[in-house]
Amino acid sequence: MDIKEIIAKKRDSREISKDEIEYFVREYTEGTIPDYQAAALIMAICINGMSEEEITDLTLAMANSGEKIDLSSIGRLVVDKHSTGGVGDKITIILMPIIAALGIPVAKMSGRGLGITGGTRDKLESIPGYKTEITIEKFIDNVNTIGISLIGQTGDIVPADKKIYALRDVIGCTKSIPLIASSIMSKKIALGANKLVLDVTVGSGAFMKTKEEAVRLSKCMKAIGELAGIETVCVLTDMDEPLGYTVGNTLEILESVKCLKGQMPEDIRKIVYTLGAYMIKLAGEGEDIQENMARIEECINSGKAYQKFLELVANQEGDISYFHETEKLGEAKYIIPVLADEEGVIERIDAELVGSISVYVGAGRTKKEDEIDKLAGIVLNKKRGDIVNVGEPLAYVHTNDETKVKGAVENLKNAYEITSGKVKPKEIILDIIK
Ligand code: URA
Repeated sequence: MDIKEIIAKKRDSREISKDEIEYFVREYTEGTIPDYQAAALIMAICINGMSEEEITDLTLAMANSGEKIDLSSIGRLVVDKHSTGGVGDKITIILMPIIAALGIPVAKMSGRGLGITGGTRDKLESIPGYKTEITIEKFIDNVNTIGISLIGQTGDIVPADKKIYALRDVIGCTKSIPLIASSIMSKKIALGANKLVLDVTVGSGAFMKTKEEAVRLSKCMKAIGELAGIETVCVLTDMDEPLGYTVGNTLEILESVKCLKGQMPEDIRKIVYTLGAYMIKLAGEGEDIQENMARIEECINSGKAYQKFLELVANQEGDISYFHETEKLGEAKYIIPVLADEEGVIERIDAELVGSISVYVGAGRTKKEDEIDKLAGIVLNKKRGDIVNVGEPLAYVHTNDETKVKGAVENLKNAYEITSGKVKPKEIILDIIK
């Protein structure tokens, strides 16, 4: 088989066969196809798309590219959760300890940041000592002993996705329904999830900019789930403004801790409660969504969710003393306010721009080998619907790179739209595809 011919077929919008897809996935994973040829094919897929059959073939080839996990020794249904990504998206870190504290096993693998969207793995690694790379035996053992384990995608599970995901990030190919669907669903198949709740984000800070695109992606992932025997619920959520108040790795861990202690901004609360209620339902632990939400609330208010988070961190060798004295985590050298030039009500905060500024100041990667700055990021002081006066801080830039301060502050101002009129509250949960 010739990779040049496969690339040419996709370049010309022709379908590629199952054998050709399997050949590409196998040879790229093994390193016989170089990055530049893989990049050409990925770009052609991104531009010209794929048929349903091609997407299914790609997903299965990726799922089979490495080790598969058998979660049957957990002896219970495992309900997984995955987000299509967003700016300030810390939902996994908040939601999963809640689910585990409710007695439902959590075995979750997460990726690194992709494009402007942050990655749970990077965030967890900003907790001193926390190990995201552990053996599969230890991963399952953790779930069996404390009910939860959150790890990174290991080299042995869907290695094809690990390579393709990192490549997409640096060649401008993050936004593609076939590539997102195959990336997410291959991991869920390999990880042995029995049921799945997907947070399909919509808006400027998400890969899917419109609800229509998000519905298409949801239907595509649901269809793959059905074929693989994974019951899937998709919750479409607003990602037009960053989620919560922080964007950046340590900053988001600190905000997650506050949320687990009950101080949850409204947008985060709605998403955590909705996804959580469906996870409980899929686990067979409660049919009524409102009742499930009440159980989530009780779990947070009783302190059980936060305790489970601390147990998770300690069990993965993280140092929980940092949560008793959060100042020990440190902060960026430069914390600069972005001041409002006009008064009014915040009408919009462009999540995409906030995400790209957070990458610029060091919180994300522009090349796959880049190191991220754990302390860098953005803290919003004002959100949609808030009143602002001239000279009041809209947000703060956190960075260790002095050369980035001026550009970041100027640009962040452009992310805010201020009106003298009224601002209607926006829906956070846009649709649920069951
Ligand atoms: N999350 C993934 O795992 N893959 C994508 O492509 C996008 C979000």
